[in-house]
Amino acid sequence: MKYLGSMKNKDGVLEIGGILVTQLKKEFGTPLYIYDLDLMEKKIKAIKEGFISEKFKTTIVYASKAYLSKGMVQIIDKFGLDIDAVSAGELHTILSTKIDAKKIHMHGNNKSLEEIELCVKNNIGSIILDNRFEAEKVAKICKIFDKKINVMLRLNIGIDAHTHEYIKTAKHTSKFGESIFDKDIIKIVKEIIEKEELNFLGFHCHIGSQIFDELAFCEGIKTMVKFTKEISQNLNINIPEINIGGGFGVRYTDDDTDVDLKKLMKKIITSLEETLETENFKIENVSIEPGRSIVAQAGSTLYSVGGLKKTFGGEKYIFIDGGMTDNIRPALYNAKYESIVANKLNNEKKECVTLAGKCCESGDIIIKDTKLSKCDEGDLIIVSCTGAYGHSMSSNYNKALKPPVVFVKNGKSYLISKRETYEDLIKNDLLLEDI
Ligand SMILES: *Cc1c(COP(=O)(O)O)cnc(C)c1O
Repeated sequence: MKYLGSMKNKDGVLEIGGILVTQLKKEFGTPLYIYDLDLMEKKIKAIKEGFISEKFKTTIVYASKAYLSKGMVQIIDKFGLDIDAVSAGELHTILSTKIDAKKIHMHGNNKSLEEIELCVKNNIGSIILDNRFEAEKVAKICKIFDKKINVMLRLNIGIDAHTHEYIKTAKHTSKFGESIFDKDIIKIVKEIIEKEELNFLGFHCHIGSQIFDELAFCEGIKTMVKFTKEISQNLNINIPEINIGGGFGVRYTDDDTDVDLKKLMKKIITSLEETLETENFKIENVSIEPGRSIVAQAGSTLYSVGGLKKTFGGEKYIFIDGGMTDNIRPALYNAKYESIVANKLNNEKKECVTLAGKCCESGDIIIKDTKLSKCDEGDLIIVSCTGAYGHSMSSNYNKALKPPVVFVKNGKSYLISKRETYEDLIKNDLLLEDI
């Protein structure tokens, strides 16, 4: 396992943020989500330092679905980033902090009336409309509350980028956005700008997640700029903004390349500046929406070993006290992780094992066939790079308690979310009255 951020080997025991994991286990128990605050701040700073231009203003919007808690919102706010939400639940979490509502941007392909109302009442920064019908809904609600709101329109630009390649596809089957190839697209935009309750800022796109191919971003930028220019000329309107989404790749294992975020941001800025120059077009503000690239590597999950098993078929299992309930990604889309026996770092004796969780599912495997130091019941396992889409996709399957979240930095720990209690699990259950 590659040591990330502040991880150190202290006489055979892993230290994160200046605290031994044995200490963290004592204080908070396992399973435990640990976020290296310093590493998270470094990622934010790298993006901030790289994503600036003299030609246009820039906005960095944290895509909160990667990991969201009140404490996380405070960090985002401290560094002056904006934040997005895709549901009333995310919106509620964000609004429960002191962040200025103008910094919130609302996504989602099927916003409910209740969600739109929440956005309008709270005067959030903008709503990213998914489609033509949503424009109607938002305008109606604005009228009821006598408000005006900033909107962008999400586009499907026909570029589909996943992992290491991108595909320029003629197929347009994604559920998100309106296609730039739709013959009605000009009409759709015209209808939006004609609604006096809506202040149209410009277009949005998000071409995928875990993208390593810089060309995909450049291709996306070219398409967005050209399209914005075309619509601006066609309708004779000023379009001040484009939002090119997130999806910046993160190294999880040796199969992935390590991404220098600041460099990548600079390349994206250069691509934007060059495209604007070539097209002889001006844009006032460009936004990006990094999620995973800010939190993935900062997060690790600490587990305790409960037992070991060698099956009749020869598979060696290490059973940990969490699993698919705190990290669904391996089961959901075969995501790969690295791990280490965190209290036996100097133990040279390694064996090939499979890390399995405690859920009643054969697919509840965190890492299949990995080399780990020989370990016993009570030892500690760290799985690294679990900071994105781990906690946010966690579940109570088998009535597992969601683990606590702790931020660590310079020898200090900050409890961000408490471990759930058994009472939490049944607090919404009611008993049948007559049975
Ligand atoms: C998920 C999402 C993001 C963030 O993607 P990451 O891969 O976490 O950077 C940004 N924008 C939109 C619209 C998204 O749905």
